[in-house]
Amino acid sequence: MRLIIMGPPGAGKGTQARFIAEHFGIPAISTGDIFRANVSAGTALGVEAQRYMDSGEYVPDKITNMMVRNRIDEKDADPGFLLDGYPRTLAQVEELDGMIAFTGHVLDAVVVLTVDQDEIVQRLLGRAELEGRADDTEDVIRRRQELYVEQTEPLIEVYRRRGLIVEIDGMGEVDQVTERIFEALDVVPQS
Ligand code: AMP
Repeated sequence: MRLIIMGPPGAGKGTQARFIAEHFGIPAISTGDIFRANVSAGTALGVEAQRYMDSGEYVPDKITNMMVRNRIDEKDADPGFLLDGYPRTLAQVEELDGMIAFTGHVLDAVVVLTVDQDEIVQRLLGRAELEGRADDTEDVIRRRQELYVEQTEPLIEVYRRRGLIVEIDGMGEVDQVTERIFEALDVVPQS
């Protein structure tokens, strides 16, 4: 099973990604988490990525693509994977197409969490207080929303044309949303 989960920052992708991945026995691969782990470990990749992350900008495609390629090559991703936070640009979509085609597989579905934009910003501000993430200040939150609308939202149309979009109402309790996702995905044929 090869899946993507999409939605604006704060839509609850990370939380849902973990449940979906567990359900299908595949790893949830979050580019944001991998970047953050590299920042904490002080790797060269982390130092480079942090310059962009702190201001809410996207890390350049070249760096991000290479990181995802390496992660997907790992053994645990042989049965499939769920991508959370990737692809975010058209160039990343093309790159991912190549990576998946190379392994002889196909993308099975793209889950899109739809949410109320105002509520999202409130959620993010709440999370900023709890976790103290450097990229959760108000300005950065706005920039991340902006970039999502400009660069990432258009990808939904690309995947819609391929018949891959599974749109899920992301509002409400976490387990309600999970339930909706499972219901929708369990009817998607697995490759
Ligand atoms: P996230 O945890 O998914 O919100 O990602 C946190 C930050 O990591 C983003 O604001 C970007 O700076 C960076 N990032 C994560 N995924 C990508 C991606 N696919 N392309 C570029 N930058 C990314």
